[in-house]
Amino acid sequence: MKLVSIVVPCYNEEDVLPMFYEEIQKVMAQMQEEHPELAFELLFINDGSRDKTLAILREMSLADERVRYISFSRNFGKEAGMYAGLKGSKGDYVVVMDADLQHPPAFLPKMYNFVKDGEYDCATTRRVSREGESKIRSAFARLFYRIMNKISQTEIVDGAQDFRFMTRQMVDSILSMQEYNRFSKGIFSWVGFRTRYIEYENVERPAGTSSWSFWGLFRYSLEGIFAFSTAPLAFSAIIGALICVIALLLLIFFVIKACIVPDPDLRFLAALCLMSLFSGLQLFCIGILGQYLSRTYLEVKHRPIYLMQENEVMYRERCAEEKV
Ligand code: UDP
Ligand code: MG
Repeated sequence: MKLVSIVVPCYNEEDVLPMFYEEIQKVMAQMQEEHPELAFELLFINDGSRDKTLAILREMSLADERVRYISFSRNFGKEAGMYAGLKGSKGDYVVVMDADLQHPPAFLPKMYNFVKDGEYDCATTRRVSREGESKIRSAFARLFYRIMNKISQTEIVDGAQDFRFMTRQMVDSILSMQEYNRFSKGIFSWVGFRTRYIEYENVERPAGTSSWSFWGLFRYSLEGIFAFSTAPLAFSAIIGALICVIALLLLIFFVIKACIVPDPDLRFLAALCLMSLFSGLQLFCIGILGQYLSRTYLEVKHRPIYLMQENEVMYRERCAEEKV
């Protein structure tokens, strides 16, 4: 038997939760028919909802023993919800998906086909259109991905989503990243493993509202930059060095000029250059501090130094399993 855990973070989802449950039940039944080896658990994370979400979850857990839930003491955000769900999941495979049906459950059989033979460790979707989203928002999103992929070594795929079908091994690797400021799009990519993208058109919410405001998204994108890049810390060193060079060149120019044609105004300009030179030097030194800070920052995250995907023991086990 193979257990599939479906992790669903929920925040004020009373309107869509019953619809989601109905849809996912159909898909689970269909998958069980095709693959009798599969069993399911549904793990809902109630992220401090203020509506009837918890009451619905309680009812569902009484009626269906596959339903489990973890209810937070307040709203901790979707990242915390996903972490709690991955940590609480018991499955050999773990699915993370939204409750609002924007991650269509109908994709699950296809995703399972990609991971079941061990060809991929993760199947996920990639939005190829941003239908139903404002133009400004799409423009900012594209800009974010452009900047992010320039300044970070971790690839952040444009349109990739938190809709994932993963093996236990990948989930355990994600959980081994204990950092507090979590930016999942980066973490999923950082851990590596073989990921298969399925492209699809954006789906709109059937009910309820998105909890992301423009500023919320903006703050989240800054979170991503700070969590996966230390480039901003090098910024002041570069600016400082530039100012130093320009101030120094101008200073030399004014001194030579003063030697040739004495001019009282030049004294003032030379003083200005000296001041700029020292400001630049200060900025440059802050940048050097930034380099130490960035290294300390990476150390305190305690990220694993490497992640293993396979060794000979696992390979032998797999070969033995295939023979049986
Ligand atoms: N969500 C959550 N905590 C939050 C905000 C959202 O658990 O603080 C859940 C929400 O219930 C949904 C998913 O995260 O299942 C995605 O949220 P939403 O649909 O608002 O985001 P969008 O699809 O607009 O990115
Ligand atoms: Mg949504």
